Amino acid sequence: MVEPAKRAVPEVDRAAAARRAVERRRARASLKRDLSMRVVAPQDVLDAALADAESTAGSLRVPDFLTSLPAIGIGKRDRILAELHISPVKRLGGLGSRQHQALRTWLDARFPLTAPREGRSRLLVLAGPTAVGKGTVAAHIRSHHPEIHLSVSATTRAPRPGEQDGVHYFFVDDAEFDRMIAADELLEHATVHNKYRYGTPRRPIERALAEGRTVLLEIDLQGARQVRAADPSASLVFLLPPSWDELVQRLVGRGTEDSEERARRLRTAKVELASQSEFDHRVVNADVAAAAREVVDLTSDSAR
Ligand code: 5GP
Repeated sequence: MVEPAKRAVPEVDRAAAARRAVERRRARASLKRDLSMRVVAPQDVLDAALADAESTAGSLRVPDFLTSLPAIGIGKRDRILAELHISPVKRLGGLGSRQHQALRTWLDARFPLTAPREGRSRLLVLAGPTAVGKGTVAAHIRSHHPEIHLSVSATTRAPRPGEQDGVHYFFVDDAEFDRMIAADELLEHATVHNKYRYGTPRRPIERALAEGRTVLLEIDLQGARQVRAADPSASLVFLLPPSWDELVQRLVGRGTEDSEERARRLRTAKVELASQSEFDHRVVNADVAAAAREVVDLTSDSAR
């Protein structure tokens, strides 16, 4: 005989509920990775939890949220919970307004957000972690916004199929790269992924700026820092993946690196993501055209 309570929940519903529970657990695990890799700001997760307690963010337990944050271990987590008077069983979406405010104040002090830079700059630097799609976004801007001067870098690496000298890069050998450095022809230069050297030729940029054009550099993090030091008025844009899992997918999907190289690049990506607070703007690359639009909107040419 079947008990009435069991008859009330048909088998299919139970299976669907179990599947939903698995999906929610997976989504929470993914969000925790995004927090620990700094793909999302903790304040944004807290806001999402407040906006919708049923969301993935809302269903995250506060202790799990805290230990997902960079450099917060179990000891620190417990001290913070006690200090903020938050019970360890609480979920982010279930915080009272005073607890929410206390947590927000603590997050702002511990993980300060950079205020977006006022005004528009004519020298824009696009950087971000490996495989985030900087090149694709830059290529989209090149073909849709001829008014923006896209800097062509010099590199010691060999051209890939389809790459043209003078269009995608200036392909040079080590001796020529050394000469360019010695002659002070490069605005910045760096060895990227411990392998090849890349640098931004100074002259074309100065010429384009003198003509009143907006200049976009798509370079690595070390280069972005050098440009900032050389020209503090430059605007630094950090391109973010929609999630850490998506970044890993893009790196694997690209298939251009072997597993050892992929692992090394992911370690670099983690370090690169941690530097985003140095940047003036953050743009999420979920859709190339939309991300390119957002970058262009930051330039002084966007008003035209
Ligand atoms: P790829 O070899 O895949 O074209 O580029 C590898 C990395 O080099 C990318 O992260 C790209 O942003 C960076 N890169 C390209 N040009 C320059 C440059 O002129 N200076 C610096 N510092 N990095 C660059």
